[in-house]
Amino acid sequence: MKNTDKPAVRDLHKQAVSATTERARRGLERHEDRLIGYFAHGTEVDPLRMRPVLKEVVAGSEDELLFRYARLHWSIPVSPGYGRRLRAEVEAADHLASIGAMIADAPSGRVHGRRRAIVEYRMTRPDGRRLLQAIGVLGRVLLAAGATEVLTGIFGHDTARTVDDLDEALRGADHRYLHVGAFHPTGTARAGADSERSPVDSEGKLRGVEGMWVADASAIPSSPWVNPQVSIMALSLAVADRIVATA
Ligand SMILES: Cc1cc2nc3c(=O)[nH]c(=O)nc-3n(C[C@H](O)[C@H](O)[C@H](O)COP(=O)(O)OP(=O)(O)OC[C@H]3O[C@@H](n4cnc5c(N)ncnc54)[C@H](O)[C@@H]3O)c2cc1C
Repeated sequence: MKNTDKPAVRDLHKQAVSATTERARRGLERHEDRLIGYFAHGTEVDPLRMRPVLKEVVAGSEDELLFRYARLHWSIPVSPGYGRRLRAEVEAADHLASIGAMIADAPSGRVHGRRRAIVEYRMTRPDGRRLLQAIGVLGRVLLAAGATEVLTGIFGHDTARTVDDLDEALRGADHRYLHVGAFHPTGTARAGADSERSPVDSEGKLRGVEGMWVADASAIPSSPWVNPQVSIMALSLAVADRIVATA
């Protein structure tokens, strides 16, 4: 960014907010009078009485409208930094190279909930260590390739300029605070012969529910490590054959 003084940054922010607001206008305008009622006036806010709560935002609900309305006013903190710092990072994006670390993790999640699925996931300690180790290796690759700064993704130590700096970041790192994503979830209703361990039988039928078949990634018994899509398609075709055969 050529001009990073405060008025110039504020002006850019204003432009970005008004473009987003314009896009959202059609869907939100008619709800605005009601939604504004949820917002406290500055003088009503007592920080000591604030109690953050975690709330699921369900599509089509009042909460969804409120979420969409409220976020028009946010600068979302995307690592590293936010506001002015984030803008500077984005402006320099043509100098940014990114490498991802991927592990096939051990099963460590649960699906709860009766009416709605609530997915719980906790990365195991050994998997966390592997992921941090991978960040160390990838950071070294980037520094060896001439990077002047590595964005580590490690909470509390988000940049490293040298290998020592990187090691220092990794020493204090806690895998529970890493930004992680899942791309190949499988096995939430694994198929298998053992009824104690497998909610779905070997043909794709959900045990205990008449007429319910499972023909997607959830029936794969564990992480296949490699890209799963072709296996899922094959599994779906095999289950479809069984459905036809038993119809
Ligand atoms: C970013 C990303 C990149 C990926 N890249 C690859 C890759 O390169 N190679 C590879 O092999 N795999 C890749 N995968 C994984 C692959 O896409 C998935 O494993 C695969 O699509 C899972 O198939 P599925 O049929 O089980 O589920 P999905 O493909 O998720 O299909 C589920 C469908 O059910 C619908 N649905 C959900 N709830 C309801 C409901 N209540 N009523 C009706 N419909 C509903 C959804 O809209 C969706 O269409 C990638 C995944 C991601 C996220």
